[in-house]
Amino acid sequence: MITPPPAAAPGGLLQILDPMAGRGLAVGIDLGTTNSLVALVENGRPRCLPVDEDGGVLLPSVVRYRDGGDPVVGRRARDGAPLAPADTLASVKRFMGRSADDPETRRLSTWRFAGGDGRSVRFLAGGRQVTPVEASAEILRALRRRAEAALSRRVEKAVITVPAYFDDAQRQATKDAGRLAGLEVLRLLSEPTAAALAYGLDKGAQGTFAVYDLGGGTFDVSILQLVEGIFQVKAIGGDSVLGGDDFDRVIAQAFLAEMAAPSPAPEALVHACLVTARRAKEALTLAREVPVKIDSGGRRIDRAFSRAEMERLIAPLVERTAAPCRRALADAGLTPADLDGVILVGGSTRAPAVREFVRRLFDREPLHDIDPDQVVALGAAVQADILSGPRRQGDVLLLDVLPLSLGLETMGGVVEKIIPRNSTIPTSATQIFTTFADGQPAMDVHVLQGERELVADCRSLARFRLEGIPPLPAGNARVAVTFQVDADGLLQVTAREESTGVTQSVTVKPSHGLSDEEVERMLRESIEHAGEDVQARLSAEARVEADRLRVATEGALAGDGDLLSAGERARIEAALASLAAAESLEQTREATAALDEATREFAHRRMDRAIGRAFAGRKVDDL
Ligand code: ADP
Ligand code: MG
Repeated sequence: MITPPPAAAPGGLLQILDPMAGRGLAVGIDLGTTNSLVALVENGRPRCLPVDEDGGVLLPSVVRYRDGGDPVVGRRARDGAPLAPADTLASVKRFMGRSADDPETRRLSTWRFAGGDGRSVRFLAGGRQVTPVEASAEILRALRRRAEAALSRRVEKAVITVPAYFDDAQRQATKDAGRLAGLEVLRLLSEPTAAALAYGLDKGAQGTFAVYDLGGGTFDVSILQLVEGIFQVKAIGGDSVLGGDDFDRVIAQAFLAEMAAPSPAPEALVHACLVTARRAKEALTLAREVPVKIDSGGRRIDRAFSRAEMERLIAPLVERTAAPCRRALADAGLTPADLDGVILVGGSTRAPAVREFVRRLFDREPLHDIDPDQVVALGAAVQADILSGPRRQGDVLLLDVLPLSLGLETMGGVVEKIIPRNSTIPTSATQIFTTFADGQPAMDVHVLQGERELVADCRSLARFRLEGIPPLPAGNARVAVTFQVDADGLLQVTAREESTGVTQSVTVKPSHGLSDEEVERMLRESIEHAGEDVQARLSAEARVEADRLRVATEGALAGDGDLLSAGERARIEAALASLAAAESLEQTREATAALDEATREFAHRRMDRAIGRAFAGRKVDDL
């Protein structure tokens, strides 16, 4: 769908509106690589809900598919993995929004893939094909159902957290998973921002914080700044293949070496060592020494294992978190002394050695009053509470940061960056391009994401063609290309030839994600919704979309109505009226499209005004 930018306020910020305010139960969800959690604000305080068979709050992010029958999610799936390795999917978050032939997919994977057709990754499990989005939806569905059981109420909406570095495709995939799980995704929130919210750092007036997040398989560091009530993620960094699982592996390696196990060692022995390593590692947070016992295939260990010994083994891995922290600080133009605090996130930061390392690295005592496993989910619940309730004084507007630069292909296969990485979102930027041939009638717009200079090294997000450029000598046509990134990090690109006003626009839906049709098909097929009226759900969504556009348009008319002639204004008001009168899905969609069309020119004028304002009074150096 083409969405005009009428919601752009001066400076390019989008107003964040929630037309569904005040209805239903809204939770916060930390959809983790290793573990997932769900939390809810009750009586003004967030708490994690029990989702484990034993009343625990961590749901291992593991799904086992079975021939026929519902998938098994959580601890049973994780612990049963050795019995059904081919049907058990873990760490699917790593594959969200990735295509089967993505180099990252090939590097990470020990899974069985079904066909690499350039589209989303598909796993073979339980005798069927499963996309990462579907597997994530199973995890979200399990969280939702178990939360509903714990609360005896329906859970309809959620704020879901994503790593700050997640790109457009990965965010879109996460949203799709939420929808498939029957949740209305109020907002995607970046994990470090959620952690800061849980600590109530928004309540203090100003401050700069580092969030150090060491989970099961990933390390992320973020620098957050709170200025005048606005949270900004200033810089991010990390290591996508470093976490507690690696600690388990080096410890297990030591056990294997001690038993003089052959290489490669038998699978059962490796598994026994990994499980023992994880348990010992976790227990050594409190204990100084734990007994380890392994007895598999004639090889055995039975001895005490000390914290000091473990710390020697994991030290080189912990050390590897230093460089990304220094780089993120440098990107933000800061030194450790500039920070007001350091927040610990992720199960692995429970290890005393990690805590000590962070203390030395940042030269201060890190905050760890809130359980580092739960802090992200708790913060997401706080945000869900804000978005689903009535507006209150002091609510924080959250701004995230773009993880990778966005740009366009120009002559010679070179990427021209339009929005640099680490820009605060929502954001927009416009750049003028020209034709390179005399009388060139069309221009190809190729949208890319990444830091490298050459198109071949960046990730292709979308391509479209602007036609109808008037015949002009080379270099005389002026094509303004505008990139707009919304609060969820989703991109829309518009190209406009200035003399004719010919405009083309795409909302970037990367080809390696799921198409709208695919998501709709999955919605239809999903057993969960078999009894429900899918049409009603689609109508509700069309309605929400329509309401967004209506509210934005009304705001635009109030603020910038002077940009319109009386006739233009009448046309927009007529379109608003038919949208208000629309009842069916068909009518709503048509009326939305008509309003979209009627406001397009207005949107561009507002955009120009906003850009004019944003650039006014700035030094050339700033641009
Ligand atoms: P993710 O964000 O990847 O889902 P989590 O934040 O849940 O991951 O962290 C999971 C990791 O934390 C696992 O490797 C687990 O072994 C580790 N972990 C949990 N508790 C402890 C502990 N007490 N000491 C050390 N590591 C721990
Ligand atoms: Mg996490």
